[in-house]
Amino acid sequence: MLPESLQHAADRYIELEREIDRLVPQACYQACRECEGKCCRAGMANQTIRTWWLREISVRVHGTWWPGDWEGRAGCVALTERGCLLTAGRPINCRIWYCQPWLDACRGPWEALFCAFLCELLPRTVRLGPQLSLLDLTEADGPRHARLIARRIEDAHELLGRARTLVDDAADEGMRLRVAFELVLGNPGMLQPALCERLLADLCGPQARR
Ligand code: SF4
Ligand code: SF4
Repeated sequence: MLPESLQHAADRYIELEREIDRLVPQACYQACRECEGKCCRAGMANQTIRTWWLREISVRVHGTWWPGDWEGRAGCVALTERGCLLTAGRPINCRIWYCQPWLDACRGPWEALFCAFLCELLPRTVRLGPQLSLLDLTEADGPRHARLIARRIEDAHELLGRARTLVDDAADEGMRLRVAFELVLGNPGMLQPALCERLLADLCGPQARR
């Protein structure tokens, strides 16, 4: 059970995960269905079970969802016939989808950039400082960082609000460019090679692909 000082932050983290899920383009979900979840592997959900923050978040929404024999299971214990059961507290690595089917499913460069941003948002949010990760905190030391945790989560909501300009039909190209520069300058790591290739192909034509 999370202490009082972290209850609101936990709810806001859950909202952030839900908002990300809502904003993922439907075509990307379709790509996952066709791919049949091949990136779901044994042991992936163990990060949630073993990590204080993710475990608390997942329990808040799903109760105690993992089986008693989770350490001996062959596949991922969160994988069901309907896909991943973890809508909250999903392992951070399972929120990063820089795969070709996703990039191919995106309609144009702005949507591809937006998807790359969605992939980076939670990894960036759990980084509380150069040497401090929310994923390394324990039940004992988490409350000491309550204000910092809350601020990181609110910053992520604000950033997500601005990033939505990239896929807002009412936004003009100038607004999108400004937001794109801001996002990339704030997090150059989102420019993964596959995304760069996709952007080059969209902006300069397929011959730009290496
Ligand atoms: S994220 Fe990519 S690799 Fe994983 S299931 Fe979806 S399309 Fe397949
Ligand atoms: S936790 Fe969910 S998304 Fe991650 S591998 Fe397991 S079923 Fe797949």
